[in-house]
Amino acid sequence: MHLQSALMSKLKQFSVNKFTSQLKQSIPSNFQELQRRIVHFNSLSGDLSSQWLNKCPTNEDFTFTPNQFKILIAKRLSIPIHTYIPGSKCKCKKNLDEDGSHISSSCNVEGSLHNIHNSVLRVIDQAAKSHGLNSTLELVTFSAATEDLSQKRPDITITNWPIQKSLRMIDLAITNPVSKSIVYSNDPLSVDPLRLLKKRELQKTNKYSTLVQSQGGEFSPLVIGTNGNITASTKRVLQVICSNQDITSPQFSYDYWMTKISFSLHKSIATEIISRSLLHNRRQFSPLNPREAFKDSVDIHLEMNG
Ligand SMILES: [Zn+2]
Repeated sequence: MHLQSALMSKLKQFSVNKFTSQLKQSIPSNFQELQRRIVHFNSLSGDLSSQWLNKCPTNEDFTFTPNQFKILIAKRLSIPIHTYIPGSKCKCKKNLDEDGSHISSSCNVEGSLHNIHNSVLRVIDQAAKSHGLNSTLELVTFSAATEDLSQKRPDITITNWPIQKSLRMIDLAITNPVSKSIVYSNDPLSVDPLRLLKKRELQKTNKYSTLVQSQGGEFSPLVIGTNGNITASTKRVLQVICSNQDITSPQFSYDYWMTKISFSLHKSIATEIISRSLLHNRRQFSPLNPREAFKDSVDIHLEMNG
């Protein structure tokens, strides 16, 4: 068993090195773009990154529409999603990038970021409840423009946490591991796909731990990358939430719930890109039949790229 896993990890490392060197040869002149692609590639081997590609579509939770699937594959391969014309303006006046990151991780017009966040949060809450944890949700709402975010409580409160203090408050962030605004250096740490996630984790901890400790509890940040990579501390929290503590082989329930989280993350990202693209294209191409505006652009362009 140990030999097999040692050999597998050697094989995996060999493939990663081979792909990274191919990547370096393919865009040698644009160092920043190369570093961004390496971070993106490194983020694809996270704990929630690939279940959506492995699981049989047994029910709606584990099934994609063709358009959702095409968008997710394009994002994974770093090729343009082409659900709108790249470079055209979002409602917020910023440019829509060709991989949909503006919609999926930086712009909350139409509540996209809240929708993605809440979809994942609901599944984490279901996982906690199904394992007997007394979990209460605080969903973020988009409507409350006047809502004072500094007064916001953490997303999840659990009153019977099995480790250390029984009161545990958890706050979730979905973070893009790749930044278009960062200047990447030669330092290997700069291409660590967890770098921005850890930064977010620290922000959450600074924001909430004093409040939670004053109520006699403990705070845990839960930071998930948009490609499904997670930090070590997020993994420890998910291991408690997603595993049945009372049985001898908790791996099955853990795998099931991690798969469900992976699907909800990827599905909600694709859904937001589709619905925002539809709204955008309707504004841009209003004489066109709105139902056609999006469908054709996806089909034609993906074939051209594929
Ligand atoms: Zn925008």
